[in-house]
Amino acid sequence: MNYDELLDFSKKLDRSEFIESEFRLFAHVDEALPIGFGQTISQPSLVVEMTRILNPDKKSRVLEIGTGTGYQTAFLSHFSESVYTIEIVPELASSAKERLRRMGYINITYKVGDGSTGWAEHAPFDRIMVTAAAKKVPDELIEQLAPEGRMVIPVGPPSVQMLTLVTKDKRGKISISEIEYVQFVELRGKYGWWS
Ligand code: SAH
Repeated sequence: MNYDELLDFSKKLDRSEFIESEFRLFAHVDEALPIGFGQTISQPSLVVEMTRILNPDKKSRVLEIGTGTGYQTAFLSHFSESVYTIEIVPELASSAKERLRRMGYINITYKVGDGSTGWAEHAPFDRIMVTAAAKKVPDELIEQLAPEGRMVIPVGPPSVQMLTLVTKDKRGKISISEIEYVQFVELRGKYGWWS
């Protein structure tokens, strides 16, 4: 993907469209903000950074875990062929779906449930983006990653995590690299911190 196009997209995408609470006033501040249900919308600069590291292209089939408001989903939708996104809080999933449809994003398939074990029926995925803190890199997500695939996932306890890049080469060999410390809300479900 082209970094200038990514920056351009991030400037044009109005983040206030994704925030319904009183925090909408702060939409243009580069911070994570509360969106209800104990969850947050990610910090714009981190969304840009994670999208850059994921590096999707127009042929990529992308799996996203943690739809939240759909803010990160909009980036993935714009820069890839199709997005499969999973959110565990039904209310967040339905408002994100309605919002993204209204905004004209049509290459997205939505699911409510525990995304920490992926979405086997649509696998393999060229790219996987996890936007909540996992206990470890889920085995199922490694399995569902296509050859030459990339996964970006924050791994660690609720207080602080290591943003981790997992790549799979042509032959299926896995490499893991640590990018930087980040702070996300906890993942729930099988590889999360609570059910
Ligand atoms: N990227 C989102 C924010 C992510 S916050 C945005 O930009 O708005 C993390 C989200 O992951 C929350 O909405 C939370 O409910 C969801 N989540 C937590 N555990 C999950 C799981 N196991 N499966 C799917 N979604 C999960």
